[in-house]
Amino acid sequence: LDLRTEDLRNIQELGCGNGGVVNKVLHVPTNTIMARKIIHIDANPNVRKQIVRELQILHDCNSPHIVSFYGAFMTGGDICMCMEYMDLGSFDRLYKKSGPIPMNIVGKTCCAVLDGLIYLYDEHRIIHRDVKPSNILMNSSGLIKICDFGVSGVLINSMASTFVGTSNYMSPERIKGATYSVKSDVWSLGLTLMELAMGRFPFPEDGRPLSVFELMQFIVNEPSPTLPAGQFPPEFEEICHACLLKDPAQRPTPKDLMLHSTFVQNAVTDKVDIEEWAKSLM
Ligand code: ADP
Ligand code: MG
Repeated sequence: LDLRTEDLRNIQELGCGNGGVVNKVLHVPTNTIMARKIIHIDANPNVRKQIVRELQILHDCNSPHIVSFYGAFMTGGDICMCMEYMDLGSFDRLYKKSGPIPMNIVGKTCCAVLDGLIYLYDEHRIIHRDVKPSNILMNSSGLIKICDFGVSGVLINSMASTFVGTSNYMSPERIKGATYSVKSDVWSLGLTLMELAMGRFPFPEDGRPLSVFELMQFIVNEPSPTLPAGQFPPEFEEICHACLLKDPAQRPTPKDLMLHSTFVQNAVTDKVDIEEWAKSLM
């Protein structure tokens, strides 16, 4: 599929984050609805071309829990990526609109994210690097998929060298500049699971607003957040605790969680109708 800017008709803006804006668009020649992300990178044209080349790996990332990719190309000085449109949007929006996510849906979301992370690492040696509620998407068929993972080394580097590359979900070892591994994604998953279940970002526990720098210091120096006592099942407390172990050597990998977490094992076999829950939100 040869994507060109001229063939994409804007329908509506879906949101913008650090360094990009996402629109719902129609690809006129194929009559396909897509999500188009435009990333502005202050880099020379060769670097941008290299990023577009590296993004082509996304064509090989095919998994039920990964948002499909249609293509990437340069437009003006920007990088344009077209991906599958997920009509219920991201989990940050879902909980901000309808309150904390029910435990059985958090369970299915956790399984989907872990399955996606395991696929990316096992098949492509890709570490996600940006696990958070806004990068977990859902559609009205009840499918849950992850997006915005770090495929392009050049893009990762050009983002990391800017303030734009920081995030509230960064693990202590990443903030400290130590080795980065799949376990850093597990930290981010732990914060994400707590956020979905509580309906708010779990750090700091008293909810007072912190600047980015205060929050980073807090993550490195203070104990990990915990769930309010007695409100959630013990197996959920257990997985959050394991994900948020500050020492990456102690923290499980995505595969460890998939194989050994009681919360995950229960969620895998749980017969919750995600599609029905999805429809109830529309
Ligand atoms: P962030 O993930 O930091 O919020 P992004 O620029 O990646 O910033 O995305 C902006 C918003 O666009 C997301 O929060 C999400 O709600 C929405 N979005 C991104 N990709 C898609 C998609 N494929 N389908 C539907 N909505 C999307
Ligand atoms: Mg995103």
